[in-house]
Amino acid sequence: NQQILLDNRPQGEATVDNFRLVTTDTPALQDGQVLVRHHYLSLDPYMRGRMNDSKSYAASQPLGEVMIGGTVGEVVESRHPAYAVGDKVVGMGGWQEYSVVDGNTPGMLRKVDTTHVPLSAYLGAVGMPGVTAWYGLVKIIAPKAGETVVVSAASGAVGSAFGALAKARGCRVVGIAGGPDKCRYVTEELGFDACIDHRANGDLKSMARALKEACPDGIDGYFENVGGYILDAVLLRANAFARVAVCGMIAGYDGQPLPLQNPALILINRMKVEGFIVSEHMEVWPEALKELGGLAASGKLRPRETIAQGLAAAPEAFLGLLKGKNFGKQLVKLV
Ligand code: NDP
Repeated sequence: NQQILLDNRPQGEATVDNFRLVTTDTPALQDGQVLVRHHYLSLDPYMRGRMNDSKSYAASQPLGEVMIGGTVGEVVESRHPAYAVGDKVVGMGGWQEYSVVDGNTPGMLRKVDTTHVPLSAYLGAVGMPGVTAWYGLVKIIAPKAGETVVVSAASGAVGSAFGALAKARGCRVVGIAGGPDKCRYVTEELGFDACIDHRANGDLKSMARALKEACPDGIDGYFENVGGYILDAVLLRANAFARVAVCGMIAGYDGQPLPLQNPALILINRMKVEGFIVSEHMEVWPEALKELGGLAASGKLRPRETIAQGLAAAPEAFLGLLKGKNFGKQLVKLV
């Protein structure tokens, strides 16, 4: 069983030397346990925060242990009556090829149906990132039909699901993404009404101008994935009583400062700004997954994936995700 451990903590930007690849034997199963062979590992921005040992909403990843991570795979051995060999499952197996899971611990493993939805989608559109988009849109932004909503990192796992969910509610949906290829994909394939290239609008003034053009009626809801000057520009274009779902600030994850120039606009515009962590809202997951599964099965939500091959490729692919090298959901294929 190949595994990737967190070997040491980043000083500033993370590097491949923070990780270590090892090979171990999988232990023999005890009663109640299941052996899962992972088909895909999910790479997600939150993992960068876990590599630090500073205080955060989630505990930091201990050194010398397998990196945390979502996985989908297949049961290859079972000593639990609810799981049979061949069952497809989603869980938190970590950066390794196999995991031994206690089938009795609630929430550790969930069986999934791959008849209409591909297995990998349970790590993206019909998984944690999809539910994240759903929570921010439905519970925080709560848009009315005809309102304008904006999302940054629009071509990614969360952003693409946000677009499909917001379109289904009759919103004008505007994305922000890095580069012309991603922007073309966001409008032509994901069906957004407009997309702004943040690489071509790399400062507050030009981003504010681009948002004015793309959002002629102002901004009613913003789903924040990036932070920094993009948030400032949104505040300048926000309507009275606009809502901001603060989901992520990836531009700052690798140690960069994220100053905010105009926080007074939150007051002036009487805005609601609410941060959230999707794993603290398990009560919405069934409803959200039902809607996302329906959109995926009907072909309305089939976002792009970037797939690295083999566990050894995971560190490089993860560092790429923090720099926008991924295009859509970043996965590692293990089988
Ligand atoms: P993505 O698939 O969107 O990949 C990350 C993308 O972020 C990159 O492709 C890149 O897109 C963009 N990005 C990276 N650095 C920068 C930068 N400096 N400036 C602008 N854009 C940048 O990731 P996810 O969809 O998985 O996650 C999106 C966000 O949601 C993250 O902030 C993540 O932390 C957050 N999140 C929060 C959760 C919660 O519970 N609160 C749960 C899940 C995710 P581009 O090339 O377009 O710039």
